Order: sequence, then C-alpha cells, then structure tokens
Amino acid sequence: MPLPTPATDEAIALLQALVRIDTSNPPGHETAAAELLASHLRQDGYEPQLLEAAPGRTNLVVRHKGDGTGGGPLLLTGHLDVAPADATGWKHPPFSAEIAEGWLWGRGTLDMKNHLAACATVMRQIARDGLKLKRDVIFAAVADEEAGCALGSKFLVDQHPDLIRAEYALGELGAFTFHMAGRRLYPIQVGHKGLAWLTLRAKGMAGHGSIPLEDSAPMRLARAVMRLGNMPLPVHVTEPARRMLEGMGRALGAGSSLALKLACRPALTDFVLQNLIRDEKGRRLFGAVLRNTASVTQLKAGVAPNVYPLVAEATVDGRLLPGQATADLLREVRDVVDDDDVVCEAFRELPATESPTDTPLYRLLEEAVRAMDPGGAPYPQLVPGFTDAGELARLGIRTYGFSPLVFPEGEVSLPDLIHGVDERIPLDGFRRGVQTLWDVVLGFCG
Ligand SMILES: [Zn+2]
Repeated sequence: MPLPTPATDEAIALLQALVRIDTSNPPGHETAAAELLASHLRQDGYEPQLLEAAPGRTNLVVRHKGDGTGGGPLLLTGHLDVAPADATGWKHPPFSAEIAEGWLWGRGTLDMKNHLAACATVMRQIARDGLKLKRDVIFAAVADEEAGCALGSKFLVDQHPDLIRAEYALGELGAFTFHMAGRRLYPIQVGHKGLAWLTLRAKGMAGHGSIPLEDSAPMRLARAVMRLGNMPLPVHVTEPARRMLEGMGRALGAGSSLALKLACRPALTDFVLQNLIRDEKGRRLFGAVLRNTASVTQLKAGVAPNVYPLVAEATVDGRLLPGQATADLLREVRDVVDDDDVVCEAFRELPATESPTDTPLYRLLEEAVRAMDPGGAPYPQLVPGFTDAGELARLGIRTYGFSPLVFPEGEVSLPDLIHGVDERIPLDGFRRGVQTLWDVVLGFCG
C-alpha cells in the first residue's frame, strides 16, 4: 500500500525541523526535539510519554495497540542526539537543514533524525488510516546514544522496561546503499561489536628534561602505542562475521566471494586482506569484523616542558567481537605491548549483540530492500561500532539496523558523512526509504 505523498512530504518537513534543533551530545539537550515529535504525534490522537532521565535529557515513547494475534510488539527506535558538528568546512551550516541540489543538509540527517522522522510519519499514518494491527507498534525516540546510551536506551531498559519491551526492534545503521565494486549493497545490521575502553598507563622515572631519560613514562607509552598501531590483534572468525562476508561475497560476484571465503580462514586472513582486497575501506571494515580492535584515541602526559612525568596515559577504544570478553582483549593488548611497566585496564564495557537471521522479520527486511531497489543486494552486517541494540538486547529484544535509504553513487559514500562534514540525505532516496519502512511495518504487523 503506497504511503500518500503528503505523508512523505511531512517526513521531510519534520526531518528539517528536527535537524534545526541542535542536540549535539555532549551536552545532548534532547528535550525540545522530543517535544516536537510529541506535538506531531498528538495531532493524530497519540498520547506520547515524555520521560526525563536527567534535566533536559528527555526520551519519548508512544504505542499503537494491536490485537496481539500476530505476536509481540515491534519497536521502532532511534536516538535524538547527534555527534557535535563544527561549522567550519560545511557547505551549508550543520543546523540550518537547508534543501539544495536535491539534498537536505545537516547534522543528524543520516545519524539518525531521518529514521525518527520516518518512524513518526509511519506512526501517524497508521493512526490516520485507523489500521487494525496484529502486533503493537511502539516508537521510542531516545536520548544520549552518542555518549553511550546511559540517559536513553539504558535508562528506559532499567527504569521503564514495560514501555518498550518488544519481540523485535528496527533501529539505526542498515538498509542504506553501500556502493562497492559497481554493486549496490544494503547492509542490515544483525549485531554489533562490544566495547571495552581501556587505559594504558606507563610508569617511568621523574627527572629534569635537560638530561635525557631512556625509560621515561612518555617514551614507554609511545613505544606501546606504536606497537598497538603496527601489530594487528589475532583473528577470530565469528558466525556473524562469516555470514556477513558470505553475503557480501554473493553480492559482489565469484572473485570477491572466493576472496572473502578465504579471508575467513585465520591463517589466510592477512594475506587476503593485504593482497586480494583492493578497496581500502573494504579492507579496514573486514579487518574490524575479524578481530578485536584496540585504537589509541587519547594521550595524556606531563605538566611542564622541562619535567619528566611519573606517568603517561593513553585511552584505547577497544572493540570486542561477539563471544569475546574484556579479559580476552586485555590479554591480547598486553601481549602486543609486551612491557610490564605499562598497565592496561578497562574503564567502560558494553557487550556485543547478535540477532538471528532465520526469522520472518529478517526475511521480510531483505524482501523490502529488494523491492526498494531492484538489483540491490541485502546482507547481514556485523557493525564495528555500537548502537542502542546492545541495551535493548537486555530485554531480549532482537534488533535489526533498518533505516532504509537509497543513497546515490558519487564522490561521497554514506559512511563518510556520518559524524563527518556535509552530512546530508538525498530527498528522493529518503522518500523511498520512508515508503519501505511503511511497507515493512504493515507487512509485519498488518
Ligand atoms: Zn547513530
């Protein structure tokens, strides 16, 4: 059933209004955006609940009741906050939401106010059409995802689980066009890596900077950081990564299919990545789903130019494959660093998630992608980053990353724009995405 054109027009106008509310996190301040969504939903008779996790940090939950004969609820969810944006270098200011050249420009247009606008539009149309559904459809717009979910999905799972408990959820990162080797791929997120943020702390002797010290804390730390940068951690081939690479291989054709199969043999992984995968982004992505990773992102040492400090510290953004624990990553990092005077410990952890692909909903999502873009190839994706799916998994919710969008081939790819400069969404592709989300919700709950 096609979604009426006025509804997709409304989705675009709502997205524009949402982008103009600056919800950069930190500090977040999602309340105005949550209230805007609430005012839209009220126009069609909904009574959304606004739940404040901390001052200014509001989450929204609303439900369309079904009769339950089709199964448990479907949760549509997205986050209200966005990554900070420095206006320097942007063609159109990041919070102006200007429409130009067929695009809507601004921070959050892809990550992920687009999905919020699409979900709200679908909810409103369900109410307008007075549809009788076989499952409840819940919409949750959450705060604080960009800073780790504490005041958003984690807060809802801990404090208001009954409001959002669902059999399945459709959230961010999936069903957008990923152009590779002339093919149009559509990753559908079925899991994401876990997180283990680490501190590396190197100890050394204090002293005067005028007399060089070989084993100073900064030097020890620098050596550890260099080793981590130069020596990849061990390969672990997990089931979600194997399914992902097989799915991508099928879409890319026989040669790539063979290469990606070989990449799943740990003894051959590095050879294949270095010699058979020409696409630089593909190589980095495949490497990230076949190993735990440890990226050094912050360095801290010293108080004055002429004083050797006792301690130097690095922050490591560690990511864990499904089935791997923080202790496994710590062991791998210590093996690489190989220095007893560099202590390594975790200060923040989130588990990996994994949702099955042999479900009626997953099959429907693949069909919907093929209908949205005939010739496009969906595949199940293990995402290197984390999303709200991790928190939702604590309630047994199976989350798929599915915020459909047809993205044209050009000088930029969608992953480059997320958290980047000139984030923007193609209007035509967004319309097709909103329609696809509508088809999925009706197909699964109608
Ligand atoms: Zn996001």
